[in-house]
Amino acid sequence: ATPISVMVGVGKGAKSGVLIKNAEALENFNKIDVLIIDKTGTITEGKPSVEIMKSVYKDFSEETVIKYITSLNKLSEHPIADATVNYGKEKDVKTLEVKNFNAITGKGVSGTIGGKEVKLGNEKLMEDSKILISEDIKMAISEQQKLGKTVPMLSVDNEVVGYVVIADKIKESSKNAISILQEKGIEVIMLTGDNKDTAKAVATEMGLSNYKSEILPEDKLREVEKLQSLGKLVAMAGDGINDAPALAKSNIGIAMGTGTDVAIKSAQITLVKGDIHGIVKAHNLSGKVMKNIK
Ligand code: ADP
Ligand code: MG
Repeated sequence: ATPISVMVGVGKGAKSGVLIKNAEALENFNKIDVLIIDKTGTITEGKPSVEIMKSVYKDFSEETVIKYITSLNKLSEHPIADATVNYGKEKDVKTLEVKNFNAITGKGVSGTIGGKEVKLGNEKLMEDSKILISEDIKMAISEQQKLGKTVPMLSVDNEVVGYVVIADKIKESSKNAISILQEKGIEVIMLTGDNKDTAKAVATEMGLSNYKSEILPEDKLREVEKLQSLGKLVAMAGDGINDAPALAKSNIGIAMGTGTDVAIKSAQITLVKGDIHGIVKAHNLSGKVMKNIK
């Protein structure tokens, strides 16, 4: 590409909220075969809010469940944690002292409260600790997951005592942007750390048959490498710390400007407002820049 046409392209992008760091990213964008896209914070707003906090164990009132969840999550930096802490504040609960706090990537958090071992997180976290989930609880949770909600469970001394239903709105532009990219012949694949029912609900709404759930951060990177080894040119869009390695490895990394600094640093393109339609814009811009050259 001529330096001038690239400069014009970069300038046009910047004007519409698509920051392109280097000429190569712009030149290559319209050649991509695959777009890997993160769910939480990329397809969705990433601003989770609590819909329900529920006690499922007789010795634990709803208030105690809220108190335990809020106390643990005051120490966590996960977006879900903020949502639960805000909920606790609204309910005016007093928090308890937590010892031995631990964040387990892709699974949840744990700690000790009043000598009791407390865990908050997904099915994997419970399975790791061999905590049994009754059929009733499984069904109640699954019902919410099928609606696209994330439902971490709270366990105290290896007994599930409650759960919290978290909702995260899908961005307005997500569905339209994804279908335009698919019409352009790009294979779009959604990856998420969330469980399979939650993932399926969101993927279906997006018209995506290609998605993978319960993905750990290192798996996102491996997914990029796998596709590249098949000779595909891979773009990756994400917002989180857990997306950074995959963004860096992909041929073109696209970060949400609303996301973490690490993600932005690892990517070549930043969508200032996190508007997914920016991916379509970048693709169109790339096509135009390349046409000017020929
Ligand atoms: P994602 O970015 O796709 O949400 P993560 O790897 O960050 O995936 O987390 C995976 C899952 O672990 C979450 O969906 C949630 O169920 C659980 N989890 C992680 N941290 C917390 C937390 N602080 N409080 C409650 N649940 C959590
Ligand atoms: Mg994310």
